[in-house]
Amino acid sequence: MASAEVSNPYLPLLRSSSSAIFLLGAGISTSIGIPDFRSKDGLYASLKLEEYGLNAPEDLFDYEHFCASPAGFFKWSLDSLTLQTTGSKFHRFLSTLKNLHRIYTQNIDGLESSSGVPDSKIVHCHGSLQNSTCQTCNHKCPTPSFTGEVPLCPVPTSPLVVGPRTSSRGKKKQKLTCEGILKPDITFFGEPLQSVVSKTIGKDRLKSDLITVVGTSLKVEPFSKIVNCFEGKKVLVNRDYVGFPGEGRWDCVFLCDSDEVVEEEGTTWREVVKGVFLGRGGVWCEERYQKLLSKKKEKGQGQGQGQGAEPVVVETVTCDACMTKTGKPFYTCEICEGFDLCEGCVGKEEGGKRHRVEEGEDHRFRFCA
Ligand SMILES: [Zn+2]
Ligand SMILES: [Zn+2]
Ligand SMILES: [Zn+2]
Repeated sequence: MASAEVSNPYLPLLRSSSSAIFLLGAGISTSIGIPDFRSKDGLYASLKLEEYGLNAPEDLFDYEHFCASPAGFFKWSLDSLTLQTTGSKFHRFLSTLKNLHRIYTQNIDGLESSSGVPDSKIVHCHGSLQNSTCQTCNHKCPTPSFTGEVPLCPVPTSPLVVGPRTSSRGKKKQKLTCEGILKPDITFFGEPLQSVVSKTIGKDRLKSDLITVVGTSLKVEPFSKIVNCFEGKKVLVNRDYVGFPGEGRWDCVFLCDSDEVVEEEGTTWREVVKGVFLGRGGVWCEERYQKLLSKKKEKGQGQGQGQGAEPVVVETVTCDACMTKTGKPFYTCEICEGFDLCEGCVGKEEGGKRHRVEEGEDHRFRFCA
């Protein structure tokens, strides 16, 4: 197919919208050094388990594990989290938009807000690091800066709780403050999702004419289902092509880094197939794209109509290198849908002979737990 070179085709689309919604993932913060979770170089893959007293990477955000031994989480926070307040170019762009209706973000870094987007326009689907809540008395406060220690609630206990003074002065140390654990307000596994998410979706459902999904592989539920909740044009901005979740299709796809899609000039865009534009930070493989499309058609026919948008949750896979069956955790190629590796095989020769990586392509493996 002949491909035409064009100047940034996303901005006119966005400007023609009267009410724009954004669904954001970790990809919008990687340009300023905040790692994503599940990619090959992401947080889970590089986590030193022993150092933080974890049995598995996902223990880090497991609510039960946290309550039982919070020290590991706060040690990790000191080593790995910065309460960064300067967002990426994309964050700053969002704060200037007049037609912004709402942002639904998976990110917990709070950068949408600190970059100037009004809080009323942001829905933190997985909570935010900015504030913490005492697990004992529910006291809410800004998250104390990470010191490596478990932060304890400073609320004074009432005189009634302190109890009568006894003669044995100094022998029993009275607790003068609550000393409950201050947990950052991010959603851990095993915690209910923020109810504000579905409430706001209910309000926004028919209000937007453009939904832009940015920097996310749309593999984490329930976030992946949100796209289908809205009316309006559906647009993907991501380094790699991601199939549309459930029924329906993308109206437009921009393969690039998120900072690039808001650049007025600087990138020459190529329309690789109709409606799919490739920028300089993007990855394109026509073969994989066709594969995804044909798979989708098969699925659609097999399931009949009206099946809704239930993503398939895969619990066991066959490792495509050693061909043994493996449960979670496993690793899946972000480009080749359905190409999976077990823990023993990931990192060895990029998945072996059966993994077809063309020259210049970047196939990262995502950690599935
Ligand atoms: Zn407290
Ligand atoms: Zn294997
Ligand atoms: Zn691959």
